Amino acid sequence: MDISDELYREVVLDHYKSPRHHGRMERPDVLGWGKNPLCGDELELHLAVKDGRIEDIKFDGKGCSISQASASMMTEAVIGKDLSEAKEIVSNFKGMMMEGKPADEMPEALEDAKSLEGVRKYPVRIKCALLSWNTLLEAMKKLEARKAA
Ligand code: ZN
Repeated sequence: MDISDELYREVVLDHYKSPRHHGRMERPDVLGWGKNPLCGDELELHLAVKDGRIEDIKFDGKGCSISQASASMMTEAVIGKDLSEAKEIVSNFKGMMMEGKPADEMPEALEDAKSLEGVRKYPVRIKCALLSWNTLLEAMKKLEARKAA
């Protein structure tokens, strides 16, 4: 195992054992649900959005350590960000996981999340890592559709 593997395990384990922003909100502005049937991961996202900014975000769910740790990393990456910034961050993360963008080129918000780069070596687990990020995109889409209506 090389150093990056070890770092990856440490960061993932830390988020898995002590998830950030874990829980639910009584009155979220928007909800997101995500599922990864291949692995059995489930995720629920609660967002508080004010003036186009993610004021608070919480996640709840169950599944493998990668899906849960990645959700924790995602909440840290986007909390306090504008929706457009959050989209940019998600697209960077997806670029790393799906198109092989180097972790070195990731923005600061992805400091922890970029340790998931190692998951690319395990194609079946990429869906686990992407679940929460895709769920966030869906939730933001819902918000925008509501605004446009
Ligand atoms: Zn999984």
